[in-house]
Amino acid sequence: MTATNLVMGCGNDSAEIVFIGEAPGKNEDLQGEPFVGAAGKFLNEMLSGIGLKRDDVYITNIVKYRPPANRDPLAEEKTAFWPFLVRQLQVIRPKIVATLGRHSMEYFLPGKRITEIHGQPKRIKFDAQKLVILPLYHPAAALYNGGLRATLIEDFAAIPTILKQINSN
Ligand code: URA
Repeated sequence: MTATNLVMGCGNDSAEIVFIGEAPGKNEDLQGEPFVGAAGKFLNEMLSGIGLKRDDVYITNIVKYRPPANRDPLAEEKTAFWPFLVRQLQVIRPKIVATLGRHSMEYFLPGKRITEIHGQPKRIKFDAQKLVILPLYHPAAALYNGGLRATLIEDFAAIPTILKQINSN
């Protein structure tokens, strides 16, 4: 066994926005909550920049068990946890799913490149629900890269406008 806790997700279970990262890291594994380390602090700051708190949204990962030594999640790990994510989305029924990084994006928008489509909301049919997928860079990747950081902050800041558009349709 390589992890301590299963990290299912946290936040509002009727949230309009769900954020999906990759997999728990060390701090997340120890605390049993997603995005509580440096990337989580950055995520909290961006949420606060659009007037939201963690409790207003739902935050989870595609893989819910920490991969050893923080390696990238394997395809079979993502596949194994996928039904749990599907069920979470069936229960929460969000309007927007913001994918953080390519590991979660590739399940909703297969074959797309994050460098080409980040920040562009895409409408999809998901298990009889209509969903808008917002592909975002991963906060950990953007944390120490000035250009990516500015791009992520800018893409994130568009969330209220995207939500308003969805709610007016
Ligand atoms: N990175 C992720 O993708 N998920 C977490 O929960 C923390 C860091």
